[in-house]
Amino acid sequence: MLNAALKILKQHYGYSTFRPGQDQIITSLLQYKDTLAIMPTGAGKSLCFQIPALLLPGITLVVSPLISLMKDQVDALGGLGIPATFINSSLTLSQVNERIYKARCGHYKIIYIAPERLESEAFQSAIKSLTISLLAIDEAHCVSQWGHDFRPSYRGIGAFIRSLTSRPIIGAFTATATTSVTKDIIALLSLDKPDIYMTGFDRKNLSFTVVRGENKQDFTLKYINENKDQSGIIYAATRKEVDNLYLLLQKKGYSVGKYHAGLTDNERQHYQERFIYDDIGIMVATNAFGMGIDKSNVRYVIHYNMPKSMEAYYQEAGRAGRDGEKSECILLFGAQDPLLQRYLIEQTTVELERKSHELNKLQTMVDYCHTPECLRKFILNYFGEKKAETECDNCSNCNDDNELTDITLDAQKIFSCIMRMKERYGTTLVASVLKGSKDKKVLQLGFDSLSTYALLKTYTLQEIRDSINRLIATDYLALTDSEYPVVKLTGKAATVLKGQAKVWQKVPRRPQKITADNSLFETLRALRKEIADREKVPPYLVFADSTLKEMSEYCPTDRNGLLSIKGVGEVKLTKYGQEFLTLLQNYAQKNAIKSSSPYLETKQLAEKVQEPPSHMITLEMYHAGHSLEQISQERKLKLLTIQDHLVRCNTEGHTVNWDALIPSQYEQLILRTINELGASKLKILKDALPEEIEYTAIKAVLCKYNCGH
Ligand code: ADP
Repeated sequence: MLNAALKILKQHYGYSTFRPGQDQIITSLLQYKDTLAIMPTGAGKSLCFQIPALLLPGITLVVSPLISLMKDQVDALGGLGIPATFINSSLTLSQVNERIYKARCGHYKIIYIAPERLESEAFQSAIKSLTISLLAIDEAHCVSQWGHDFRPSYRGIGAFIRSLTSRPIIGAFTATATTSVTKDIIALLSLDKPDIYMTGFDRKNLSFTVVRGENKQDFTLKYINENKDQSGIIYAATRKEVDNLYLLLQKKGYSVGKYHAGLTDNERQHYQERFIYDDIGIMVATNAFGMGIDKSNVRYVIHYNMPKSMEAYYQEAGRAGRDGEKSECILLFGAQDPLLQRYLIEQTTVELERKSHELNKLQTMVDYCHTPECLRKFILNYFGEKKAETECDNCSNCNDDNELTDITLDAQKIFSCIMRMKERYGTTLVASVLKGSKDKKVLQLGFDSLSTYALLKTYTLQEIRDSINRLIATDYLALTDSEYPVVKLTGKAATVLKGQAKVWQKVPRRPQKITADNSLFETLRALRKEIADREKVPPYLVFADSTLKEMSEYCPTDRNGLLSIKGVGEVKLTKYGQEFLTLLQNYAQKNAIKSSSPYLETKQLAEKVQEPPSHMITLEMYHAGHSLEQISQERKLKLLTIQDHLVRCNTEGHTVNWDALIPSQYEQLILRTINELGASKLKILKDALPEEIEYTAIKAVLCKYNCGH
């Protein structure tokens, strides 16, 4: 039985092994047992019902709340050579009838349906003529009001099952594992003594980071600047915050989309599609975005605000790295976040029991943001998994190798200032007094005569604010729970003021690039995008990032070699094999590379054998800190050639640090002039701008903002 499943896994999906739990869940369903599968987001639930669907007689119905994604899901299955369709409210009655007729004739193995459909009598009677072997319920936690996505229409599923003359096998799938949700799923979906599988919640390819007390905007801008070529999601708590961030990133020249419940269906659909199709790199969204979106190459998920529970956090963060490649989950904690979430809970929850349940969950989330221990361990413990290892070496707490610095003196200055201001003001005013600001309010209240006035004048206002936030996050200070939070000293601060304890803190880390550049990978990626645009499908459906990465490492040049790459099955080989092989063969020939295969022992990495191309050498020297003039002298090449090298690197998708070539005071002026006069003639731009602005700076701005592309 499992052999047949393995064969499908290889043939249709191009994978050679099951992930943990998949084989057991598939076997259980194939043994006609009701099955409840609890797996974290990205662990691979879909395969667990799709493969049995192909092996069982008749049809599998998949109930899913994600109407807007059904078409994509069905298209994806089509791409794998699996006959599927969907029935939901986007279809006309005659379209529905046509699909049911075709289903009766054996055209489909899988039909996705919206839960509301099950309550329709017309549908119930139409379904009687079909053989339904398996009813798979995706996102099964939606049936429970203790989950985080309660959908009343899920409550009708139990009655639907009972109305069927021949009861199919029921498979329920979810990422939410709490006891109350599990109980609800079993009872309300009428599962019959189900086998329950809970696969490991650990996602080893994800790194977890909590950043506290830093300027969120600066951090985010630095981070995405470092990771320009990567796809990422930024979650913010409110629509307003999403709109603001969206505008900011757009102004900075990034290709960005947004998603929240305040947009029209069309707008949401538009941004979602462009993101999935890799036309935009960054999606700024509220938690309304993402359920069921199987975009496998999301390389980072930044939480601009702390979410309301660990379930919500892990589900949203888990949207990074579904392809198993290294990806980052970063939570930016701000002292206001718990207050905002508490406010939202107070506003939306009336029932007392539920309110206290939600506030408890919120407290766990706050604890996560403050724990000095391994973050992964914290998450796994929360989801009921005890891990033997104490450290994961892949989270910000395990990896925090920055030196602890004694900041006692600065902390004392801050505490003392708060005390002298009688613990009656917020962080901003405290910071202004310490900075020595001549702000109207500071002067009006006479704070310029305090002995602590201007004690931290050598720092920027923002740095002082960050320090205060860090002291709040580490419980030396506390914010009151009021509309305008006031900073107070805690007992911990009192001991520091008395000189009985010291304050040690680590200096914040700078954002790093997630993955190294690899020119073959970029070329493969460009071909993938070309095919995706031609076929009007999202690029990751052609091949996942992990597949392209493996191709770029082994550079296979024949069909068998290509088949041995993870994610290349026979269906995709037939569809795309030739185009990719032609590219790989040309690349191998040009760079005198011997191809290899993941199954060969000698893992001869393509990157190692080749001499880097000239423009890449320039880029490397430039990023190692050489100026363009130095590179030109050292390499005995004209300055113009060196500039062109960087432009070429940019066109090929490599990250180039343009900022170092743009005098920041002129950046906006150059950009405005380009917008006014166009990007086609450099000379016209040069003449229109002040003398001191060099050609290099103009070219750099053109590249940085992708003008003329
Ligand atoms: P979930 O529904 O659990 O969030 P998906 O079913 O969308 O996850 O799967 C996530 C990703 O993992 C998909 O890109 C899928 O192709 C991939 N995947 C699933 N099973 C395997 C496997 N056995 N080997 C490699 N990749 C897999």
